[in-house]
This record gives sequence, C-alpha cells and structure tokens, in this order.
Amino acid sequence: MSLTIENLYASVDGTPILKGLNLEIPAGEVHAMMGPNGSGKSTLSKVIAGHEDYEVTGGRVLLDGVDIAELEVDERSRAGIFLAFQYPAEVPGVSNANFLRAALQARLPKGEEIDAVVFYKEMYAKMDELEMNRKFTSRAVNEGFSGGEKKRNEILQMMMLDPRYCLLDETDSGLDIDALKVVAKGVNSMRSPNRGFLVITHYQRLLDYIKPDHVHVMSDGQIVKSGGAELALELEESGYDFLKTA
Ligand code: ADP
Ligand code: MG
Repeated sequence: MSLTIENLYASVDGTPILKGLNLEIPAGEVHAMMGPNGSGKSTLSKVIAGHEDYEVTGGRVLLDGVDIAELEVDERSRAGIFLAFQYPAEVPGVSNANFLRAALQARLPKGEEIDAVVFYKEMYAKMDELEMNRKFTSRAVNEGFSGGEKKRNEILQMMMLDPRYCLLDETDSGLDIDALKVVAKGVNSMRSPNRGFLVITHYQRLLDYIKPDHVHVMSDGQIVKSGGAELALELEESGYDFLKTA
C-alpha cells in the first residue's frame, strides 16, 4: 500500500511547475518535503488532491496501485486523500459542525444517516485533543479564524475524515510553539501502519515533534535530494546553498 508519484509533470496556466517528480509514500511512513519558496511543493500537494487549476501533462499518481487521474477532487477525498491547505479557504454561511457532518455523510452508502450523537461526541473529543474551544463548532468554516486557528481546524477535519494519505502543506506556519505542539500531537495520534503522511514544511522545528521517516528536498519541480530525519537538521544548518552549485 502506498501513494506513488511517477515521473509527474504538471503545469499551471501553461507554465510547467512539476518536472518529472518521483515519490513513493508507503502506508505507515511520514515523509517531509522541504525546499525553497516557489519550488513547487504546494503545487505537488494540490495536483495529488486533484485541484482543477493544475494540468497534469505527464506521469501518474497511484493510490494503492490505482491511477487516480480520472478522479475529481471529491472522489479523491472519498478515496482517502486529504490535503490540509497552506492557505485554508473560508466557507461563509456553513458552520464547522455542519461542514464536517456533510463531509462524513458523503462517505456513507446511500440511505445511511450519520448518528448525530456519535458525531458530536467524536468531534468534541477531537476538539479537546486539539485544545479547540467548542465555540468553533458553530462558527462558519475558517471565517475570521486566525492563521493558527485555521491550521488547527484543518487538523480537526483530518482527524474526523480519517484519511489514508494525509498531505499537510505548511501546517506549521503561523503557529506559536504551543499550537505547534498541539497540532503535532494530533498528527502523531493518527500515525498508523495503514496511513501515510506528506508533511511540507520550511522548518526543522515541526520535525522535532513529528519525526519523519524520510526527508526530501524539492527544487524547480523535482526532488533533488532525499535522506533521513538528519537531512532536515543539515538543511537547518546550511540552507539550500547546495542547490546553486549543484
Ligand atoms: P512552493 O509551495 O514550493 O513555494 P508553489 O507550488 O506554490 O511553490 O509554486 C511553484 C511555482 O508555481 C511558483 O513559481 C508559483 O508562482 C507558480 N504557481 C503556483 N500556482 C500558480 C497559479 N495558480 N498561477 C500561476 N503560477 C502559479
Ligand atoms: Mg507552498
């Protein structure tokens, strides 16, 4: 079982961004993706999630061996792919609780109804874990949330949806150290032999709390270096200068 990216090419508005990217995330592993701004990290996560602005011009994304090219965003979500956005969208007029409930309802077979009591119990338990005030259940999704509150809310969605492969795009940015620890705790509680993670981050700091199995560096639409957790520490020391001489 794995999320496998094979020789992936993708463009936005005709501009090539991903240029032959290969990556395999076996279930059970956490892979961290680092690299300079503009190298294509967010593009990669959005292409995997099936964002409509990005055109795949070559290669494949395989979910447990199945090519997902033909699947729409919602179908990929139901197939088990979850993306926590770098810039989470606000959804005015839809309460957080109703949003989550609708997302879970959409995963049930036709005719089956979510048990509201079970749903609220589970949501409250996860909010407690994330130290989120219950007032966030009735507020519109992300509307007027601070940067850190949005990121926590993304993790709440992830915990409720129980995905197979989780893509976290700079979930640590905008978080103070306490919020970072809470988010990391949420992610760590979800680590399982059946679930894979791609954690995009600029900072080693997050990786102090979410220990990656592998670390990759992306540059100009490709992975240019891979290693173990120690690679993130090296990058913290020496930066991305090696990319210029490479
Ligand atoms: P990263 O997340 O590594 O900082 P991105 O994937 O956000 O990089 O961006 C990679 C490149 O693609 C950048 O040069 C960016 O300007 C460009 N890009 C991304 N999305 C769009 C878009 N919707 N329209 C035009 N250019 C885009
Ligand atoms: Mg980005």
